[in-house]
Amino acid sequence: MPIQKNSILPLTIESLSSDGSGVAHYEGKAVFVPATAPGDQIQARIVKDMGRYSFGIVEEMLVPSPAHIQPDCPVCKPCGGCCFRHLDYAEEAKAKQGFVADAFVRIGGLDTPVLPILPSPLPDRYRNKVQFPVGLDAQGHVVAGFYAGRTHRIVPCADCKLQPEELNQIAGAVCRFLDEHRIPPYQEETHTGLVRHIFLRKGWHSGQILVCLVINGKTLPHAEEFCAALRAEFPNVRSIVLNVNQQKTNVITGKQNIALYGPGYIEDTMCGVPVRLGPLSFYQVNTPGAEQLYGVARQFAQLQPGDTLLDLYCGMGTIGLSMAADCEKLIGVEIIPEAVDSAKANAKAMGVTNARFFCADAGKAATKLAAEGLRPDVICLDPPRKGCDQPTLDAVLTMAPRRIVMVSCNPATAARDCRYLADRGYIPQKVQPVDLFARTKHCEAVILLCKEQ
Ligand code: SAH
Repeated sequence: MPIQKNSILPLTIESLSSDGSGVAHYEGKAVFVPATAPGDQIQARIVKDMGRYSFGIVEEMLVPSPAHIQPDCPVCKPCGGCCFRHLDYAEEAKAKQGFVADAFVRIGGLDTPVLPILPSPLPDRYRNKVQFPVGLDAQGHVVAGFYAGRTHRIVPCADCKLQPEELNQIAGAVCRFLDEHRIPPYQEETHTGLVRHIFLRKGWHSGQILVCLVINGKTLPHAEEFCAALRAEFPNVRSIVLNVNQQKTNVITGKQNIALYGPGYIEDTMCGVPVRLGPLSFYQVNTPGAEQLYGVARQFAQLQPGDTLLDLYCGMGTIGLSMAADCEKLIGVEIIPEAVDSAKANAKAMGVTNARFFCADAGKAATKLAAEGLRPDVICLDPPRKGCDQPTLDAVLTMAPRRIVMVSCNPATAARDCRYLADRGYIPQKVQPVDLFARTKHCEAVILLCKEQ
C-alpha cells in the first residue's frame, strides 16, 4: 500500500542507514528519516513514497533518544555535510561499525571478523583541507559556506566545526577583503564574476597554511595588498596561490597555479613521511586519523626483510613510504602525474633509495608488471570509491602475493572486491573499520587477505 504524501505517522527510529538517515518501519515498510537517532520517537511527515520504502521528515519530536544530542552547528541541517551532528559520537562510531559489517555480509556474502572500529582521534576540527564556495548574501556581502545538499545554493558558514578555527577565520578575512575591494564572487548561472572558491590547507604537524583562491581569470586585483593583509593577520600562512579555473564546470580546481607568495605549497609530515602539499595534491583530510589507518595497514602487511611491496593507487606515496624501512623494495603506481612527482620527492626527502614510482593506470601497470614476472610479497590496494577494476584484481591474483592489504573508503566496493578475491583463493582474514570522517556518513576500512594454503 502506498503511503499518502504528507501523511503524519508515529514512528520509532530503529537504526541508521549508510547514507546517514534514521530507519523506521511502518506496516512492514522502511521509512527513512534524516536527522534522527536510533530510539527517537517521532511524528514523521511522509515526503515521498517510493513503493518499497518511503522518505519522511521529523514533524514533531515526541521522545528523543538518549543518543540524540543538540547539534552544535546552526547550519548543519541545510548544509548536510555533517549528517550525524545530532548524534552522540559513540553512537555514530557504532553505526559505522555496522555499515562496514553489513557490507561484508550482504554485498560480499563474507563472514569475515570485523574488529571494533577505531574512532577518529578528534571528532571535530580534524580536517586539514577545506574548499568554501563563495557567493553573495541577501545584503550583497561576500560570504563563504557550503552548498546545501545536492544544490548549488550557498549556505553561509562562519565556523565549520570540521575545520580548525584558524581556517574559518581566514575564510572570513578573505570575504571581508573581497567585499572591501569590490572583487566580485563568481556567478555560476552567468559565468561572470571572479572568485569561485577559497581553498585552504593546514599542515597538521607543521601548522603551515596554504591559501588558494580559485578564480575565473588569471589575475587578482589588489593582489599585493591581499597577501600583505593575510600575512599580517595570520603568520602561519606560508603560501598564497591563485588557481585558474575559467571553465563552466562543477570541478573545483583548474590545472594552472600562480604563486602570489611563498613556494606554492606547504610542508607537513604523515607517519613521519615528509610531504609537500599544493592545491592539487590528493591527501587524506584527517591527518591523525590517517596515521592510525596507515598504522593498521603496516601491521596487517607484516613485511619482512627482503620483501617487495607493491603499493597500487599510491597517491603521493605515503602508505608505501611509511613502510619502506620494513622491506627490500617498494613499487608505487598512481595515475595523477603531480602525485607521482610528489611521491618521488617525498622518497628523496626521506633518503629512501629502494622505491620506484610509476604514473599509470593501476590495472594496466599491474598487468604489465605481472607479465614481466614481478612477484611482490605484499600488495597494498587503496582505490578510490568505485573500488578496483577487474584487470587490477586479476593482475594481483597473477602476482600471487603472500598478503593483500586493502584500504578502502567505500565498504560496499571493498566487500565486492574481497568477494572476487575470496573466490580465487585469497581469504579475507579481518576487517578493521577506521573513522576518518567523524560526523559525516563516510567510513574507511582496512582488510587483510591471505593466500589460501
Ligand atoms: N594511497 C594514497 C591515495 C589513496 S586515494 C593515500 O593514502 O594518500 C586513491 C588514489 O587512487 C588517488 O590518488 C587517485 O588519483 C588514484 N587513482 C584513481 N584511479 C586510478 C587508476 N585507475 N589507476 C591508478 N591510480 C588511480
